[in-house]
Amino acid sequence: MEKEKATSGKSLTNFKSFNLHHLIEAGIEGAGYAVPSPIQAASIPSILSGRDVMGLAHTGTGKTAAFVLPILQRLMDGPRKRVRALIVAPTRELAEQTHEAITELGRRTKVKSVTVYGGVNKNPQIAKLRNGAEIVVACPGRLLDLVNHGEIDISQVEVLVLDEADRMFDMGFLPDIKRIIKCLPVKRQTLIFSATMPADIRGLVQEVMSNPVNVQVGDSNPVSTVSHAIYPVEQHLKTALLMKLLEGTDTESVLVFTRTKHRATRLATQIAQAGFVAASLQGDLPQTKRQAVLSGYRNGKYQILVATDIAARGIDVSSISHVINYDMPDTVDAYTHRIGRTGRAAKTGDAFTFMTHEERGFIWGIEKALGETVEKRTLQDFNYGVPAPAGNDGGHNRPRPQQPPARRKSFTTVQGKAVLHQPTASAGAARPSFPGRDREKRSGR
Ligand code: AMP
Repeated sequence: MEKEKATSGKSLTNFKSFNLHHLIEAGIEGAGYAVPSPIQAASIPSILSGRDVMGLAHTGTGKTAAFVLPILQRLMDGPRKRVRALIVAPTRELAEQTHEAITELGRRTKVKSVTVYGGVNKNPQIAKLRNGAEIVVACPGRLLDLVNHGEIDISQVEVLVLDEADRMFDMGFLPDIKRIIKCLPVKRQTLIFSATMPADIRGLVQEVMSNPVNVQVGDSNPVSTVSHAIYPVEQHLKTALLMKLLEGTDTESVLVFTRTKHRATRLATQIAQAGFVAASLQGDLPQTKRQAVLSGYRNGKYQILVATDIAARGIDVSSISHVINYDMPDTVDAYTHRIGRTGRAAKTGDAFTFMTHEERGFIWGIEKALGETVEKRTLQDFNYGVPAPAGNDGGHNRPRPQQPPARRKSFTTVQGKAVLHQPTASAGAARPSFPGRDREKRSGR
């Protein structure tokens, strides 16, 4: 396998060097992209030349445009109103975001993209497919459903993209993916993007790709512009500590992770009751509500979003300044995915992780993966001595494995990144920057 290693330093190329169609260049300019990101610089030439590419890259690296731009270039020639590119994504949010990227970058090209995913009425999707589209961005289940009912013809697909492949495997989509691939022409270009390279992905690469070029961003670092901190705290004090942090930290947009849907809903309510503008995103929400919450978060209506892992997958909000792990993630990979929500597009971000006594061992895994010790912080003006209400730890204080997770990754982080605001001993020293919060308070909610 050939290897292209993208450095995380400055990109040497510019978009002109790809010789893309001028209508696509207009889209790039419209999106405000000045220079290609490292993954784009390393993978676009190979994809344009028709090679299969295995891209090891996290979200936030610009991987979407890395495959969207060459796909648009290919589609400028040849038949229209026929599905020629298929992008398979693990979640509807990611599918929608990819569709939006295609719409933005391909605005002038008249290339059409349609999203196909479950949880919503299939008829509008079928109607759009019948109108004719060249790109389909799909989640596996609904795609197979429409294929089996003859509503979509993928027999002439020229390019297949499996995006966030590791997450699709984690979610159990491997059998569906294999079924989808059986419906595609054998002669095609296959692009796989994944944040990690577990054995099942390696197996799939060998099975479905032909002599792929391997493209990797840096050392597969999660997002090099993120600084990490651990906040040791007992389970029953997590909510109080979160409020204290939100009060005392200068934040732009905050994403809080909980372990369960119920906890996400409850915590968002508690945060809102404390006067912040917050919403929750979890898998039980109907699709229309999810979209409303996401767009509210994206446009700044909600400064705080409380989400579960699956719901948050693929959230692309470039202004997230803080990711707070209210509950510890289950694996190092999940940690990486979560913090990949901040520090996007070369902005900086902070990742705060609450750690109960039982979870200390898990931090070793994260530290081993990061290749450094993560700073432990305590707030001087926070009362850590408040006892737990008798018999109540919320039932969530389940012990964690003391062993670091087996999957080893070699991350690097930018050292010495300044913390936006270090909470201090003086209560209320920093003015929280939540304009919407004041608005909300005034409106008496
Ligand atoms: P992705 O990793 O594809 O989810 O992209 C992360 C974010 O980076 C998205 O908001 C993109 O719009 C943005 N982005 C992608 N490529 C570039 C680029 N070359 N310059 C600036 N922003 C970019």
